[in-house]
Amino acid sequence: MVILGSWQGRPIVLSLKPNCVTVSLDDPAEATVLSFDMEGRLWTAMLDGISYRRGLDGRVLAKWRTAGDGRKRRWLSAAEADDLLARTNRLVVSLHRALSGGQVNLKTPLPSGMLEVLASVVAFDPARAHTDAQVYRDIYLPVGILPPDQYMAVVLQATEGCSFNTCTFCSFYKNRPFRIRPVEEFRVHALAVRDFLGAGLSLRRTIFIGDANALVVPMPKLIPLLHVVHEVYDVEALGGVFAFLDGFSGEKKSVEDYATLRDLGLARVYIGLESGHDPLLRFLRKPGTAREAVQAVSSIKASGVAVGVIVLLGAGGRQYSPGHVRDTARALNAMRLDGDDIVYLSELITDETLPYAQDAARAGLTPLPHEERMAQAEAIEHRLRFPNPKDTPPVSRYDIREFVY
Ligand code: SF4
Repeated sequence: MVILGSWQGRPIVLSLKPNCVTVSLDDPAEATVLSFDMEGRLWTAMLDGISYRRGLDGRVLAKWRTAGDGRKRRWLSAAEADDLLARTNRLVVSLHRALSGGQVNLKTPLPSGMLEVLASVVAFDPARAHTDAQVYRDIYLPVGILPPDQYMAVVLQATEGCSFNTCTFCSFYKNRPFRIRPVEEFRVHALAVRDFLGAGLSLRRTIFIGDANALVVPMPKLIPLLHVVHEVYDVEALGGVFAFLDGFSGEKKSVEDYATLRDLGLARVYIGLESGHDPLLRFLRKPGTAREAVQAVSSIKASGVAVGVIVLLGAGGRQYSPGHVRDTARALNAMRLDGDDIVYLSELITDETLPYAQDAARAGLTPLPHEERMAQAEAIEHRLRFPNPKDTPPVSRYDIREFVY
């Protein structure tokens, strides 16, 4: 339901959907657009030409465009995030007051429920936001990363950490020993997440079972954990279950196992292939081989579950680039992907603290600048051949620096 009008001399658009409320104020210079979940949490904002995305943990990522350099981004400091929340809250407080007092000129009447939803936004002031973020931190271990199409998932941490933790470019779970949560502990977690999200659950699109490679859990333990997910959530209404899996461990589950998981709602498995070039995988200390990843994908797809395959652009620098491009395209082609699947091409993001940087320096690797990484992406894409040219997977860019949960 969209309502047009004017307020304080500015055109205003109010949009109420089942999962969010949006306030847009037009201005000749810059539009202001604020969206909130049904619990009143700020979700996205566009202010002064800068777009903001607030995570459930209260952190805020700012993104903007510059004339020369293109896209910029940075995380706001805690004080800046507080300021943003205070500013958006003030605006909604005065809008709510004006709407309640009939001081907004509307072309159609407000839909029922709009004032109540805006009242929950008013109540979500900076103090409430602090409490909310603390509850989040009590429920969750930091969520390391998600695939981009899962940023709006309900994350449930059935496992903690990564069962491998060897990859030199990855710092997500370095200080988190791998652990499978017992069923009762997981039930408490799943219920706590549901209570925390509250009415904001309606904004969530899927269920993502974390952490890094939850599907490494043996079937006798995994099935009861998925039963808990069904006890607490309407899995079908939420769009199914999604999870990461490492290619190496993926081979250990059979087609029948994946069919069982599919019947329990598993919709897509994300595999960090990184590269189809085995020498590069060894250099990255990534467990397994390209062949094992292809076999895992074959079992998963044979069960009717889709895959998302993630490739690292720029890994191994200029020296590994020809083999990386050639063998990655070859591995992706061998996976026989279709329109249900996704291929993500993700730039390697590294820094001096990671073992990758030290290994690369020792090996004398020449890093690829951004433009050459993009050329690498094009070279891989150019070589891709899918079984059905009319049913091909989307090939998307994936920037881990933009991850927000
Ligand atoms: S398997 Fe994945 S999560 Fe684990 S260390 Fe490697 S890249 Fe990181």
